[in-house]
Amino acid sequence: MATGILDDARAISEEIAELRHAIHAEPEIGLDLPKTQHKVLEALAGLPLEINRGESLSSVTAVLRGARPGKTVLLRGDMDALPITERTDLPYSSRVPGAMHACGHDLHTAMLAGAARLLCARQADLAGNVIFMFQPGEEGSGGARLMISEGVLDAAGERPAAAFALHVSSSLLPLGIAASRAGTVMAAADTLHVTVRGRGGHGSQPHCAADPIPAACEMVTALQTMVTRRFDVFDPVVLTVGTFHAGTTDNVIPDDAKFIATVRTFSARTRDLVRDAAVQLVRQIAAGHGLAADAEFVDGYPVTVNDQAEIAFAERTVSEVVGEGRYVTAPNPLTGSEDFSYVLEQVPGAFLMVGACPPDADPATAPFNHSAEAVFDDAILAEGTALYAELAMRRLSAG
Ligand SMILES: [Zn+2]
Ligand SMILES: [Zn+2]
Repeated sequence: MATGILDDARAISEEIAELRHAIHAEPEIGLDLPKTQHKVLEALAGLPLEINRGESLSSVTAVLRGARPGKTVLLRGDMDALPITERTDLPYSSRVPGAMHACGHDLHTAMLAGAARLLCARQADLAGNVIFMFQPGEEGSGGARLMISEGVLDAAGERPAAAFALHVSSSLLPLGIAASRAGTVMAAADTLHVTVRGRGGHGSQPHCAADPIPAACEMVTALQTMVTRRFDVFDPVVLTVGTFHAGTTDNVIPDDAKFIATVRTFSARTRDLVRDAAVQLVRQIAAGHGLAADAEFVDGYPVTVNDQAEIAFAERTVSEVVGEGRYVTAPNPLTGSEDFSYVLEQVPGAFLMVGACPPDADPATAPFNHSAEAVFDDAILAEGTALYAELAMRRLSAG
């Protein structure tokens, strides 16, 4: 059984690649991906699956019921592209200006469809159910949360015992190497929006106005001091002010100054602390200068946390299916974020990165995910498909 799935995945790898290329050439962004959804439905046609489409997004939820009773496992593949104009010379490169599968979600979709086929062929041996979660809107739209609100976690009639997601990487990891870690694997990514409200006037007479700019500058540096002085260095905060806007010319004091920061944290506790601390700091600096500040902390994706037992199981599965030494424990979480975090808040599971860097490129210097030049190699498709299928098959056998 164990070796069979990888062999079968290799046998259908051309079809998996064809699906991947079709999705790649016609990328769609956000929550509404009708063409991608159509391609997935076509790939699943004729399989013994219960299929549901999303209402508020173009998701596909497919449930496979094994011939024998057992638990439920969820496998997730995201399907959306990014607002980037592709600059690769791949034969199947994007035909849509301003849209590109630069995060490899085309591979996830194709591998998950391939895994559905392989598992359907093993329906008679399957003890339990598999939920295939084809998800739009990972890149900022929170598609996973919407699918949860539309019932993906209950699609098989009971909560999954475990949930798994794979994510390809065009750089950093050599081709075929899987990497993850127990506990936090990706950051929470929230946003701090600040408007400092003063009173405009002539630049030569600041005492007659209420200048928001020096106070806003003080906030930017004070936020960095807050990060280093008030947070544990081993449970860190990354705070970057990425936009700062005020004023029109040299001799006019503006009415207000605005800035926005991204705030990354690695535990729910620190996330809660920084949410309050950052807002208080900004407001009190404003008050100290006789100004007011509107400060809003907007929640993005939460921390992605792998379950200890499920990541240990996933590590064993990688080693047994594709080979010893093919799993490496990541020393640190990634500072990016992932909306599979919403699934892992409710279901124990694991999120794994998988190297898809072309074999002739150096992972250290290859264009990274979200680059207009990012290239993900088809050679990962068969193994990725087999890993998805084996994670479900073996996890259900474990009971
Ligand atoms: Zn991405
Ligand atoms: Zn991604």
